[in-house]
Amino acid sequence: MSKKQTTSAEDLRRVGGMSYLNPNAPEPWASFVEQIERVKPHLGHLAKWIETMKHPKRILIVDVPIIRDDGSVAHYEGYRVQHSLSRGPGKGGVRFHPAVTLNEVMALSGWMTIKNAAVNLPFGGAKGGIRLDPRAHSQAELQRITRRYTSEIGIIIGPDKDIPAPDVGTNEQSMAWMMDTYSMNVGGTATGVVTGKPIPLGGSLGRHEATGRGVFIAAREAGKRIHLPVEGARVVVQGFGNVGGIAARIFQEHGAKVIAVQDHSATLANENGIDIHAALKHVEINGGLAGFPGASPISGDDFWLLKSDFLIPAALEGQILPERAQKISTKVVVEGANGPTTPAADDILQQRDILVVPDVLANAGGVTVSYFEWVQDFSSFFWTEEEINARLEQIMVGAFDAIWKLSEERNVSLRTATFIIACQRVLAAREQRGLYP
Ligand code: GLU
Repeated sequence: MSKKQTTSAEDLRRVGGMSYLNPNAPEPWASFVEQIERVKPHLGHLAKWIETMKHPKRILIVDVPIIRDDGSVAHYEGYRVQHSLSRGPGKGGVRFHPAVTLNEVMALSGWMTIKNAAVNLPFGGAKGGIRLDPRAHSQAELQRITRRYTSEIGIIIGPDKDIPAPDVGTNEQSMAWMMDTYSMNVGGTATGVVTGKPIPLGGSLGRHEATGRGVFIAAREAGKRIHLPVEGARVVVQGFGNVGGIAARIFQEHGAKVIAVQDHSATLANENGIDIHAALKHVEINGGLAGFPGASPISGDDFWLLKSDFLIPAALEGQILPERAQKISTKVVVEGANGPTTPAADDILQQRDILVVPDVLANAGGVTVSYFEWVQDFSSFFWTEEEINARLEQIMVGAFDAIWKLSEERNVSLRTATFIIACQRVLAAREQRGLYP
């Protein structure tokens, strides 16, 4: 009695919520390739190597079978894509979501290559995922799925080969299971095989908050350049998890007013500003924003029309398509999610003078502190939270500065400037290493 896990379009809509899954969005890998194409004219002699970016180095597709709690057998499709290993081991998260496809994981791995190079971490880019709805599984089932997946991709991951981390649908607990499974298989405790682990297992202080903190730093830096202070700013946030929820909280702590939030369960607004601490507490207890009394429900369409200073898409890709880009009423889009804006929508935002701080810069804080975690695990010497936050600040501000300057010099968007800097680093490494054999 084998039960194949299938996911219907109806399931996707139910799980993804009203606005997360857009059937009109182009395939994410096509968006990534288009972004790479746009950089080519800016790369000089390195353009010779640009095709590298359109060819992921290694793709592993695995079957993940488990016995479910009711005794039946279920199979899930899992992936690990190593897009580039030119500058170091692969690095990037693992996503559990019903809409995961190989195409999506390929794009996410490519964005990791760009992100890691943009902030100059000594990593290539990788990503993994399993197509499943984590909310439809018990903790025991999730543990079996995570462990079997880790074992299956065990042949290509490792502290000096490819280092997974959390992404949508995974968390510290998932990383503890991954670390343990890999460790059992190699016969010793290998803390450096994953990052985003619980603190007692070699996790880093500040890692849990790092992506949201980095989003805030990127927004603040963008605001400085256009004389838009965070204090008093109107902020709209899509996604209220590890990225959006924490970014919203830090915005509020710095005097901004978060006027609307959206997650898989609800879209809520309050012109006077939502009490983010109370909203986070509500989500902790109830699993979503639905029913939070401190704001009023609005429609998913109205959410995108709200007048704001900073708009933070921090959910999934394919959220800002041309039609929405025409209507959005904000000054700065800060991409907490990976790939929320399609290239065609990017052009419209640029025409409309809406500044876009791209994902590959704005959400790089997470992988930056992952890098710190990996370094701490290797040296078995752990830093204070102050040290970690100070180093994160330094890397984010330094990268933002260089990217801003280049975008002014070349008169290109921040996204193209980020891709130029990243591709220069990746392709120079490629050229210097040379082709084997
Ligand atoms: N999943 C996160 C990202 O998209 C973090 C990856 C990591 O820490 O390796 O950047």
